[in-house]
Amino acid sequence: MDERYVSLKELGSGNFGVAWLVRDKKTGELFAVKYIERGAKIDEKVQREIFNHRSLRHPNIVRFKEVMLTPIHLGIVMEYAAGGELFDEMCTAGRFSEDEARYFFQQLIYGVSYCHSMEVCHRDLKLENTLLDGNTSPRLKICDFGYSKSGILHSKPNSTVGTPGYIAPEVLSPKEYDGKIADVWSCGVALYVMLIGAYPFEDPSDPINIRKTIGRILAVQYSIPDYVHLSSDCRLLLSQIFVSNPLKRITIQEIKEHPWFLQNLPEELIEVEKNNYENLNSYEPTQSIEEIARIVQEAQIPAEGSKHGRQSMEGT
Ligand code: ADP
Repeated sequence: MDERYVSLKELGSGNFGVAWLVRDKKTGELFAVKYIERGAKIDEKVQREIFNHRSLRHPNIVRFKEVMLTPIHLGIVMEYAAGGELFDEMCTAGRFSEDEARYFFQQLIYGVSYCHSMEVCHRDLKLENTLLDGNTSPRLKICDFGYSKSGILHSKPNSTVGTPGYIAPEVLSPKEYDGKIADVWSCGVALYVMLIGAYPFEDPSDPINIRKTIGRILAVQYSIPDYVHLSSDCRLLLSQIFVSNPLKRITIQEIKEHPWFLQNLPEELIEVEKNNYENLNSYEPTQSIEEIARIVQEAQIPAEGSKHGRQSMEGT
């Protein structure tokens, strides 16, 4: 553990490693640190996550702070979102009302729109990757840029990534696709999940059958259960998002102008964009890109005694 931070509790573990809540000894501020084992796990995907995340500064995106090295891990230090995952909130509620779902969807769309303006597409948008801060009017924070691609740094995406229920039809084909338009589809799935409390393209009687889910995605086969009342504007928006042909799908900009989306739209969301994302109450990155690159490079050397040590040393 870096001597600047005190570890307080484990927040959870994911595909990469484990996330901890820590406190900055000097300032008392709380942060989340994602620890990834040094060595082979610090691959291109992790580097992409770090550099894409560093470039983003928006109230609806978990803020990147810095990277640090411990004897066995690379730590990614970032803003702590004290309210946990939006997914858990939704599970506790069963499903959200249209007003509640819109409240979170508006923030999701503004966050995604900002990412796209920075030429970063997320490619794994889902309720599990949206956290909440601890406020009474919770603010949504997009996290986990593990699958993100930058239009500036990387080639156009053509690999199938994401989480099955959230994947857009074109991502399932081997051809190149536009990551931004595929993100729109995932936002639609997130909206549907919030409103209905179930996944749009899963067969409720056979939810773990991924092949079936994929078949339904390709056929754009979804329905709104009778017991859920949705306004016609809301249904219309879902039908404009769930369009197989990416060129005919509604764009993020069009969503921002949609009558359903515009209802109760918080002034704050528009203001942040109008001000060109300046004057935001968030910290500047403490490390330069070069410094981060150096730390990440060092983290690629396996820790002594690591079980992956031999394997990755042979590969170098
Ligand atoms: P995953 O690969 O599943 O996204 P992560 O390593 O990103 O896993 O996160 C592991 C757990 O830590 C998740 O349950 C997530 O909710 C929590 N977590 C991650 N980042 C933060 C953060 N910035 N603030 C609060 N909790 C976080």
